[in-house]
Amino acid sequence: MSLNTEWQSRKEQATAHGVGVLTQVFAARAENAEIWDVEGKRYIDFAGGIGVLATGHRHPRVMAAVAEQLQKFTHTCYQVMPYPGYVALAEKLNEITPGRDPKRTSLFSTGAEAIENAVKIARVATARSGIIAFSGAFHGRTMMAMALTGKVAPYKAGFGPFPSEIYHAPFPIDLHGVSVEDALRAINTLFKADIDPQRVAAIVIEPVQGEGGFYVTPPGLMRRLRELCDEHGILLIADEIQSGFGRTGKLFAMEHYGVDPDIIVTAKSLAGGFPLSAVTGRASVMDAAPAGGLGGTYAGSPVAIAAALAVIEVIRDERLVERAVRLGDELRARLGRLQSETPQIAEVRGLGAMIGVEFADAKTHEPDPAFAKKVQARALERGLLMLTCGIHFNVIRFLMPLTIPDGVFAEALEILEQSIKA
Ligand code: PMP
Repeated sequence: MSLNTEWQSRKEQATAHGVGVLTQVFAARAENAEIWDVEGKRYIDFAGGIGVLATGHRHPRVMAAVAEQLQKFTHTCYQVMPYPGYVALAEKLNEITPGRDPKRTSLFSTGAEAIENAVKIARVATARSGIIAFSGAFHGRTMMAMALTGKVAPYKAGFGPFPSEIYHAPFPIDLHGVSVEDALRAINTLFKADIDPQRVAAIVIEPVQGEGGFYVTPPGLMRRLRELCDEHGILLIADEIQSGFGRTGKLFAMEHYGVDPDIIVTAKSLAGGFPLSAVTGRASVMDAAPAGGLGGTYAGSPVAIAAALAVIEVIRDERLVERAVRLGDELRARLGRLQSETPQIAEVRGLGAMIGVEFADAKTHEPDPAFAKKVQARALERGLLMLTCGIHFNVIRFLMPLTIPDGVFAEALEILEQSIKA
């Protein structure tokens, strides 16, 4: 029996089947944009651990920062004895995130945990309880994050009841015939039929929907949401867990809109592969939570913080934001050429390097998840690891490290092209 199949059968026996797993090969080691499995087969990593690795696997400067921290301490619990790194990272995030007002940051471990806390903070700051999110949104797998998520299968089915006072508005997608006006009308209807806007604490939005299908929030909607929030005293929460840290060709996707959120939630590429998330927001909002109301045993791990401080320097020093634009341009051009000869490519879209390609049936124009799956499987066979997304699972998304060497990127684009044409 080969190693992969052996581990696969042990996995089936030992681990919960509720964790869906894309591949049946097991990782042995990884470097920058490449992973090798336990049998030595090499894969180019266009998944980046679901958008975690803007700075690649094991970036030398991140590894050095972590190694140095490991010699000092790995845990005190920040609430018991704080450490300088937490404060330094909070200062850094307050400085680099959008929004000119004085800010504060609270650190956590996962994206879902940060979302939970952003909602807690918004509720305590406004003394209101309602939260509006969007269809197709993904905010995580804990109860509140799941309630906010706008995709039933596989995230929500069977797991309810969910926390109350969560409302969804349709996310505008031109390709699917949903306009900004439709979305705004639906929010207006929510205010008339379901909840007084004076009871709404926050509107939560991903500037670019991640799991939902790499749909970019139209600027007109973002601007109008800001106005609605200002009009009714609602807080705007930007979930930049997937779109942050250079991916979209700006350090944060909200910079594309000229609209400042009240709270911004980050995780994933923040710490280059170590579990860390952050809630950053206007000081007046953040300070509403009383001492003891926020935190967690592991919230703000000193090891992950050391990684994050290095990640932020690497993004700046290696000009990864500019590189995201260039990688995105190349990818978009390649997919654009393929689109002219592939009727199943319904749309190529995105911001910067956060690009998705949507597949639809050539005749009926209905979403074609089978085609996306086939492309993904062929690519995997040829050594390219890619993820799908979308409520119909018919979009392939690209989340390669922004540090990917040009040669490896070119090789991956070749595999992608063959896998679409095959
Ligand atoms: N929000 C967004 C936009 C995400 O993409 C994700 C993860 N895919 C989450 C929240 C949840 O993050 P985590 O899996 O770290 O809890």
